[in-house]
Formats: sequence, C-alpha cells, structure tokens
Amino acid sequence: MRWGAGSISGDGTRTAVLALLARRGPLSRAEIAESLELSPATVTSSTRRLLAEGLIAEQEPRVTQSGRPSIPLRLIPWSAHAIGVQVALEHISLVLARLDGAVVDGSTWPFNPAAPKALDRLIGLIQAQMGQAARQRRPLLGVGVAVPGAVDPDSGTLRMSVRLGWNGMPLATKLRTALRVPVFVDNDISAVTVAERLYGPSADCADFLVVAIGQGIGLGLVLDGAPYRGAAGAAGEFGHLPILPDGTECACGNRGCLETQASTEALTRRAKEANLIPPQAGVSDLGALAAAGNPHARELFAEAGEMLGRALAGVVNILGTSTVVVVGEITQLWDHVQASFDSALAAHLLPYLRNTRIEVRPWDDRLIAVAAAGVALCAPLAAPRQR
Ligand SMILES: [Zn+2]
Repeated sequence: MRWGAGSISGDGTRTAVLALLARRGPLSRAEIAESLELSPATVTSSTRRLLAEGLIAEQEPRVTQSGRPSIPLRLIPWSAHAIGVQVALEHISLVLARLDGAVVDGSTWPFNPAAPKALDRLIGLIQAQMGQAARQRRPLLGVGVAVPGAVDPDSGTLRMSVRLGWNGMPLATKLRTALRVPVFVDNDISAVTVAERLYGPSADCADFLVVAIGQGIGLGLVLDGAPYRGAAGAAGEFGHLPILPDGTECACGNRGCLETQASTEALTRRAKEANLIPPQAGVSDLGALAAAGNPHARELFAEAGEMLGRALAGVVNILGTSTVVVVGEITQLWDHVQASFDSALAAHLLPYLRNTRIEVRPWDDRLIAVAAAGVALCAPLAAPRQR
C-alpha cells in the first residue's frame, strides 16, 4: 500500500500503523512492514513508541510456519478517543469515537450558522461532549471538526463557506483557544475521504474518488496514495463544474453549476417550481412521488443522474482513477438516479476506463462526524501542518 511521496514518515507512520491495526486486527511487526511497504526498522521504532504511549499492546507469541515465534500487536481501543463534529447548515452532529473508530456516544442538535452566537453554541456543544468523555474517564486525543467549505490546511482557517456564510474565519485557532485541546479543522468531504483512506473498504486503493451528493456536491481525491487538497485546500469543488450556459445562479455567484441542477437541494427547488411538491416538502417527498410512478418526478431524477454521470466521466477521464465511492443523501434515492447515471457514465468514459468501479454507500447521517473524529485520531495524515 502506498501513501504518497513523503507522506509516510515520522508521525505519518504512526497514523498508518494505528489505522492498519484498527482495520485488520492484531498483526506482527513483519506483517505491518509488509502491508505498509515499510522497513522492519521503521516499524520497530514506530511500534516501540506506540507501546510506550499505551496505545497498542503485545499479545501471546504465536508460532509461524517457519517455526519462529511471532508476536502480534493489537490496538487498545479505549486507550484514546476523539470527538468528531459535523457543522452543517441546519445542524451540528457530534460523536465520541474510540481509537479503533468505534462510536461510543453521539448527538445531533439544531444549528443556525447565521445566529450572532453561533460559534459560542458550537463551542458549548463540544465542551458538553468533552465533559461527558471526562466523566466516563475516556482519554481524549483531540477534536476534529468538518465544515462545508474551503479550509486552509496550514492554519485550519475556513477560507470560504458559501453554505455556512462563514468566510475567512480562523476556526481552528478560535476552537483551540476555547477548548484547550488539539483541534483539527477540515473540509467535510476531505474528512470523509481521509477516513475512507484509513479505515474504509478503499484503504488498499492508491487512487480513488469520493463523490458526495446531498444539499451540495463535493469531491474527495486520493491520488498516488495521499489525499489531494490542491492549493490552499481548494480542490474538489465538483458541484461548481459549469454544466449549463446561462443556467440558474449558484450560491458561489456563478451560473449553471452542476450543484444548481443535480444536488438534492436543486431537485427539491426544481420540483417546487414545477408544482410537483408543496413548498414545505423535501427531496424524500419527491422520491416518494417517483416511486409511485409520477413521470415528471422520475424525469427530474433521470436528468440529475444523466448530468452527474456525464460530469463524473469527465473527471475520471482526467484523473484515471479506478474506483469511485458515492456517498450522501442522494444514495437513499439512487434507484431513481442509477439508470441514467450509469448510461451517461458509460457513454462518456474513455473505453479503457469503462471498468471503473462505482461503489454506492448506504446513507449514514453520522458519516461526516465519524470521519471528523478519524481526522483527529489520525491527525498527521489528515491535516499535516495543523499542529
Ligand atoms: Zn457554483
């Protein structure tokens, strides 16, 4: 497994070893070295530090086929925890996760990012979760916060969030000052992508994409083993791919972006404009209409699927990735999108890329909060410079 040039050294090795043991269970040093393509000496020194920190332990020796004893190392899941926070347009979701990624506590709260005391509310909710962890005597490594917007990976400053309306906010600094624990801030889709790279079924893939389709549309990239963030964390704005000339005005200020046509918010807006659903209805109501056979509802989903498939084919043709993971609210309605998505993708992928694997993951409303906890547990890889 490759981790990208230069990314697996120092604390990156620690991250890789912890994630591997979380994913695969107890392994010997030789097995760790082989899986991560590291030298035995590097694994020995990294695991020595992890043993000293009490994050891993040695198990009883087992005899290998060669007759030599081998000592498996295992994670101590309760030795460290992280709080993961998703800040979204209408809610904040928090989880407390163990070192192996298992969630032991969590809650979701209504939120208004435009309220004057919005940041105080975010701090208060994290402090309450920290208090709960302290009462349960759960050691805390740090807090990971995932936000919809462009985050500067150096500073954890939220450069621009169209969705939250927070621009140029030094979020990591403010939270660190208030909470007095390590805090890592990342873009929400980047967080999901890092978690997939460390713990998910794509962990052994060196190149893959995560496409998130919900109220917005985002893209996470893992290229040559490492998450790719672009200049100042600006990579992955798939939702702002220009798709229609002179189309609807987008929240970003441009016109005709993919997000204005194919996000769940766009589908809901378009259904209301066509009087298919009442003003207070949501995308699931449109889904119910399509399931009941309404041809106009079915047409809206088919159109969105066609645009998404065509746009994604363009991205895959450029990057040559062999796997695409689809997440987000749209996966609940994938039955209505799939046929047109698949045929548009197949029609526009280059012939030698037509075996690209598309994995549609079941909808999980805690996905981003859990991923944010993963960012804090695996900080060196996730946010290399926010220390
Ligand atoms: Zn846009």
